[in-house]
Amino acid sequence: MPERTESDSRKLLRRLRDTLATPGKGQDRLDSITHLIADSMGTEVCSIYLFRDADTLELCATEGLKPESVHQTRMKLGEGLVGRVARTGLPVNTANAPQEKGFRYMPETGEEIYSSFLGVPIQRVGEKLGVLVVQSRTAREFSEDEIYALEVVAMVLAEMTELGLFAGDVDGMRALHKQPVMIRGGTGQEGAAEGRVWLHEARVVVTNPVADDPLTEIDRIRAAVGQLRVSVDDLLAAESLDKDQKQVLEAYRMFAHSRGWLKRMEDDIARGLSAEAAVEKEQSATRARLEQVPDAYLRERLHDLDDLSNRLLRILTGQGHDTGAEMPENPVLVARNIGPAELLEYGRKLKGVVLEEGSVGSHAAIVARALAIPLVIHAGRIVTEALNGDPILVDGDQGIVHLRPEETVARAFRDKIAMQAAAQQRFASLRGLPALSKCGTVTNLLMNAGLMADLPSLEGSGAEGVGLFRTELQFLVRNKMPQRAELAALYARVMDAAKGKRVAFRTLDIGSDKVLPYMKPQDEPNPAMGWRAIRVGLDKPGVLRMQIQALIRASNGRPLTVMFPFISEHGEFTAARDVVMAELDREAAMGHPVPASIEVGAMLETPSLAYAPRAFFDLTDFVSIGGNDLKQFFFAADRENERVRRRYDTLNVSFLRFLDHIIARCAETGTPLSFCGEDAGRPVEAMAFAARGLRTLSMRPASIGPIKSLLRRVDLTQANEVIDKAMATGAESVRPALMDWLATQPE
Ligand code: PEP
Ligand code: MG
Repeated sequence: MPERTESDSRKLLRRLRDTLATPGKGQDRLDSITHLIADSMGTEVCSIYLFRDADTLELCATEGLKPESVHQTRMKLGEGLVGRVARTGLPVNTANAPQEKGFRYMPETGEEIYSSFLGVPIQRVGEKLGVLVVQSRTAREFSEDEIYALEVVAMVLAEMTELGLFAGDVDGMRALHKQPVMIRGGTGQEGAAEGRVWLHEARVVVTNPVADDPLTEIDRIRAAVGQLRVSVDDLLAAESLDKDQKQVLEAYRMFAHSRGWLKRMEDDIARGLSAEAAVEKEQSATRARLEQVPDAYLRERLHDLDDLSNRLLRILTGQGHDTGAEMPENPVLVARNIGPAELLEYGRKLKGVVLEEGSVGSHAAIVARALAIPLVIHAGRIVTEALNGDPILVDGDQGIVHLRPEETVARAFRDKIAMQAAAQQRFASLRGLPALSKCGTVTNLLMNAGLMADLPSLEGSGAEGVGLFRTELQFLVRNKMPQRAELAALYARVMDAAKGKRVAFRTLDIGSDKVLPYMKPQDEPNPAMGWRAIRVGLDKPGVLRMQIQALIRASNGRPLTVMFPFISEHGEFTAARDVVMAELDREAAMGHPVPASIEVGAMLETPSLAYAPRAFFDLTDFVSIGGNDLKQFFFAADRENERVRRRYDTLNVSFLRFLDHIIARCAETGTPLSFCGEDAGRPVEAMAFAARGLRTLSMRPASIGPIKSLLRRVDLTQANEVIDKAMATGAESVRPALMDWLATQPE
């Protein structure tokens, strides 16, 4: 086999492009491509395997293997050498394929006579499309140069596949971005929505993978990299950066200035790729490497490199954020991840949100919840699969997404949405009625909020007030610390919108998962149990004091309710309460109006507070159980960790007994008690809490209707007896007994 030169590669790419430019069927194109490659590489065999479905590869065209095996030979991802290339995204090069570990003999192909094997992935920015293979009789390993040449060819094939140049009429070929796809992720926010995809980061489409004039392309890539470097330098020059942000950006700049990176792209261009295709080839290689790296720090750095490639592509193509595409009607936002401020900017015009990453406690999830938009998280591959404008169904209840759904699926889904809408209407008719159970008990239903955007729900949902206003959202969505006057104006607007209904403002709960962009992140091994919430407030009282002042000014003489998060002991509560009292005195001394009345309460989120001295229960004006945190500490199960967060049932007898204890402690002192974690918004849980004596529940607004409807249907005394009985029989959870009993209750 002759040594390959750069101009051989260029010639091959040009011939490939010409083949594709002539009109023809997809299969004919694939056949001529395999012929061309085998001819140019001087091998007896060239084959193209493409994905038939997510884990099956199919031989779609071959030069050299038996023609009857085309569209017959299939293998699973990871199976045989071809499957290995597809799984790892890395080449396999061997002089003696039949002896290679994992080799699988496919008799129908007649490949046993070929000894050397070189397979490279056909992939596009991490999206695996297939495998390109050359084989020859002579036992020899392919040179670095040949591997490289074949990778360049595979890159062009990937771009062509992306552009749909083969799809449609090739039997067994996955027509990209055309077929229905169902993605199973996780629930970020319940609800169902039908709409069309709107990509947060528009996908860059490369239409010219092959270029004639390498010199022009090299000029283009150098100019683009130059522009990129300037923009990164500008970022670094920003005055507002702290030391850590600077460090991250320094690493970023190092990549942007990396000679190796530019050199590899220039080499690809010299072989015939366009500047854009060269960037994508590097990016694909980075992504393949990303999957292999177990070290979190290195993965982060590779993410940086991936991000730089995206910027470079946007510079080169002029596409990206501003592609000129119009947002479709009923947009469903699709993104790898998104920050709270960006999500808030889209606001309520979004019908749903689908994230490839994200987590239940992420800021984006909190904002999606506040906006009552269905959110699916961990939707693997959604960003690569979805195109702007694609029809999409978001099932936030199940954490499932249907992209380009079949009509039957869409119809069933619409029925579900219609049923939910009908139920909402039923609930709306209960709006003015109390949650009065058959036994005569009334439960107060309040809502949780955190944004101005939440407030209209106060009227719509029939909530009697805001049981938890999470003030940190206002801090999270800004890129610098808000000023006192700004906060006072916002809190005043919240109180105005509540029209006299009680709003429990919870002071800042930052730390743990809630990290402010402008505050130095603490490197803590266990942030949920670390320096967070009131602990930060007491150690650095400046922000706490400023927030209390803002609340007092916002109340402007109206009643005020303040609640402290994450109080673990009596002393913490007294210290925090003293701050409020001191600020009240200060404001009064300055001649400012003080609230007509003030309630200062504590969230019970750590088991320790349930055993605090009686003095705590005497002093606090109320206690609100923050079940999300309390449960994670009670069961030692991280609320952010998908593996464990649903492992222990809230209706587990041990947790209910613990709640009984808290209820009893508050009853002793007549301290008002409420529950404001997510569980208060789940019907069976809410019923069990109410039955045990929790008479105030605070939940997301959309849950108020369903919970009120259930509470009005049942007799809480009976429900309590069912729980007692289940506890007495030694059940682990009272849920089965409650569900059986509920099934016998009239609608
Ligand atoms: C809780 O912990 O239950 C709670 C309501 O607070 P957050 O979810 O904001 O931590
Ligand atoms: Mg909490």
